Amino acid sequence: MPQRETILEYRETEENFEMRAKAEPEGKVIVGIHPYDLFAIEQLDKIFIDTLRDEPYRQKRENSLLIGVNMQDASETAFAASMGTATTDTGYDLMLTDLGDRFAVNIGTLEGKEFLNSADVRKASAAEIQEVERIEDEVVPDLFEKELEFSPALLPTILEENYDNMDFWEDYSENCLSCGTCNMVCPTCYCFSVDMSRDLGENSGRETRRWDGCLLEDFASVAGDENFREEVAQRHRHRFMRKGWYIYERYGDIACIGCGRCTSGCVADVADPCDVYNKLHQEEQAHAQ
Ligand code: SF4
Ligand code: SF4
Repeated sequence: MPQRETILEYRETEENFEMRAKAEPEGKVIVGIHPYDLFAIEQLDKIFIDTLRDEPYRQKRENSLLIGVNMQDASETAFAASMGTATTDTGYDLMLTDLGDRFAVNIGTLEGKEFLNSADVRKASAAEIQEVERIEDEVVPDLFEKELEFSPALLPTILEENYDNMDFWEDYSENCLSCGTCNMVCPTCYCFSVDMSRDLGENSGRETRRWDGCLLEDFASVAGDENFREEVAQRHRHRFMRKGWYIYERYGDIACIGCGRCTSGCVADVADPCDVYNKLHQEEQAHAQ
């Protein structure tokens, strides 16, 4: 989803009020998507196509060919292996694996197969297929220094139990600057604001949407000068609850695919979901003893 996009244009006439959706975007080929980001796209599809039926998103998605690439290196902040998102068999049209002097290509969809027809390819040998499997099964899981210390399936329960643990949330969020970077870099964060604007001196205008983020101070501001998440600790708690519990309740997915971008982007070093979830789990373990 672009940072800012026009979703609707309107024109008033004497008798009428005409509205039209923004023209269909041109097709795109997106190359080099990591498996965890393909999981994130599948989550967004579930929300924007299957549930909300968001037309601009659907059009862009249907006009995009997704070419993934298996990881052979990982950021020190990533923990995708713990989240089960380090490799994938779905979500791509084509998946590349670097074999040194050539790439192996897995075909995921008919569109991917057709795209490949125009390329100079040959059938993979049994040894090449085995090498792809070795990379996925043995190399990729070992790339991640960081790991969740428990099964992600336990996250919704752990978070629900810690909703009222304000000492923890206040302590953890103490240095947060409310800059919103952790939201903006996250592939599973999708909140946006909608603005209506009118062309100066004209009877026309447009509706645009732009990225928004729950860590920003005025995200939860409403009419009447109320802000129902005024405190930084409340906003912090909301972000982690949403990733590990609320979205799971609604769509059946943990909304963190372990990419580590939020951790890399946070200057205050307080955005890391792996760290937060491990600390909450450790606290629970300590209380249980
Ligand atoms: S957690 Fe970090 S990245 Fe997120 S709003 Fe706070 S300071 Fe910014
Ligand atoms: S919360 Fe952080 S680690 Fe999880 S998907 Fe978002 S950016 Fe990646």
